[in-house]
Amino acid sequence: MGSSNNQDYIQCVCGRVIKDPSEYKLLYLRKEDNEIDILCPNDTCYLRELGYIKFEVIDNKPRVVKASFYTPFVTWNVARLGKEKAMSILKNHLRALVKIHVHWDKIMAGAEGTV
Ligand SMILES: [Zn+2]
Repeated sequence: MGSSNNQDYIQCVCGRVIKDPSEYKLLYLRKEDNEIDILCPNDTCYLRELGYIKFEVIDNKPRVVKASFYTPFVTWNVARLGKEKAMSILKNHLRALVKIHVHWDKIMAGAEGTV
């Protein structure tokens, strides 16, 4: 396996390698739920939804309540990378999504769709 450089990266069950958190698609459709879907960058992915970010709005400011990836995606990467490594990378991805990649200003302005 030494020649493959994909082994250190997160991968979706569909085979799509995700090297950077900026590659996920973020979709905000469930306004009343205050929930953002984290989607696989591969448009033809059969899993598609990899996780979610749930938030609440206090004094017109978003506050993240929970951000998590779904079990099939996590299990797949734990099997590939080992638990410690996979969990550490996935945690960093979630942190980057919440802090950098979600366009909170768009959401707070009432946008729906890709955020
Ligand atoms: Zn996928």
